[in-house]
Amino acid sequence: MKQHIETDVVIVGAGLVGLSAAIAFAKQGKSVVLVDAKSVMNQKTQTWDERIYALSPESETWLKSLDIWPYVEAERVCTIDAMHVRHESEELVLSSSDANLPKLGVIIENQNLMVALWQKINALDVTVVTEVNCVKLENTQQAVILSLDNNQQVSAKLLLAADGIHSWVRQQTNIGVQHKDFQQTAIVANFSAENPHRNVARQWFSVHETLALLPLVGQNVSLVWAVSTEKASELLKLSNEDLADAVGAKSQGVLGDLKPIGRTLSFALHSQIATQFVVERLALVGDAAHQIHPMAGQGVNLGFRDVMELTSLATNLHHMQDLGDAAFLRQYARARKTDTLAMNTLTSGLDALFASDSRMLKQLTNWGLRQLNHQGSVKKLLIQQVAA
Ligand SMILES: Cc1cc2nc3c(=O)[nH]c(=O)nc-3n(C[C@H](O)[C@H](O)[C@H](O)COP(=O)(O)OP(=O)(O)OC[C@H]3O[C@@H](n4cnc5c(N)ncnc54)[C@H](O)[C@@H]3O)c2cc1C
Repeated sequence: MKQHIETDVVIVGAGLVGLSAAIAFAKQGKSVVLVDAKSVMNQKTQTWDERIYALSPESETWLKSLDIWPYVEAERVCTIDAMHVRHESEELVLSSSDANLPKLGVIIENQNLMVALWQKINALDVTVVTEVNCVKLENTQQAVILSLDNNQQVSAKLLLAADGIHSWVRQQTNIGVQHKDFQQTAIVANFSAENPHRNVARQWFSVHETLALLPLVGQNVSLVWAVSTEKASELLKLSNEDLADAVGAKSQGVLGDLKPIGRTLSFALHSQIATQFVVERLALVGDAAHQIHPMAGQGVNLGFRDVMELTSLATNLHHMQDLGDAAFLRQYARARKTDTLAMNTLTSGLDALFASDSRMLKQLTNWGLRQLNHQGSVKKLLIQQVAA
């Protein structure tokens, strides 16, 4: 391996967002170096992955346009035909057929998508440097220079920070974050259900809690249960079977008996938005730029939209501009700030609404859900937003 590599783009972080960015830029004919502290993920297990994503139709279409779908194990991707959102006795039903859409999204396991992305990377001319740590970041007028602890140096026109919530790159550039601790933990596990889920993503909102049961292929469902940190520590002490019973009770038994399949994981919930998305020759993408509450299942979709925007703007670059051009990066930052803040306001606002113990607010929420259910045109608009 060369000690000094020159490239158009160096991407730090080979999570879903960094991998997809490497593919998108490589498909535009740009030279790409992809760096990660971990090793390549090239194997799937047969068991169900506890980490799953609800991909929007927009994300799925984009991943298909990057030729990633042929590498995905399609038999393990589950379509979402409808969403049922429940608060106390009220239920809002959003169905793809009400808006003449083929589906609202798909559920895919982390390892299914990660392995597919790595396979696509291997089929392209991307330089992959894994199991290394970044040690230094410098800027010259012409390039950004990244030094690694294997003594390699990468000199690039543009550096993409795709290194997740604790982004090393973001810290080197002194970009701050607006941080909110939801004092909640998401409990994640998979179950096989007695009753068919009928491709419905179900969500229950209650005081400072959201429980989602998302459809997996067959009669399996994936749980994302966001609860207060104290309640989470109690739930995490339960056996898998007792947790299944607690989930069954909280979800009003709609799916009948639930049987655990696999492990239970937990994630502390925060929102964190970087105060700047770009600095000289550097752009933040994915969780390095923004982490939002998972209740809307939008985190990775937001990260994919960062890459869509950046790579789409890159196609319009004038021949005098390179990928590190300040005006180009400012355009990216402006476009992505609005989308990110809107999504963060929505999820944080919903959390605050449902955290409230106020009777009036609860009645208002129930009234709102009831009204929405009976407003065909408004509902159609909402469904189109969900599936956007
Ligand atoms: C409980 C839960 C449920 C969720 N459900 C959904 C959902 O249904 N739909 C959805 O869209 N989103 C969901 N999300 C959000 C989603 O998981 C994240 O938004 C997404 O995984 C972020 O991807 P990323 O590639 O930006 O970052 P990451 O996946 O964190 O990847 C970062 C990469 O950078 C590497 N790295 C880190 N530091 C360094 C370094 N110094 N040097 C080199 N490499 C480094 C890491 O090894 C890693 O590979 C959920 C999140 C949680 C917590």
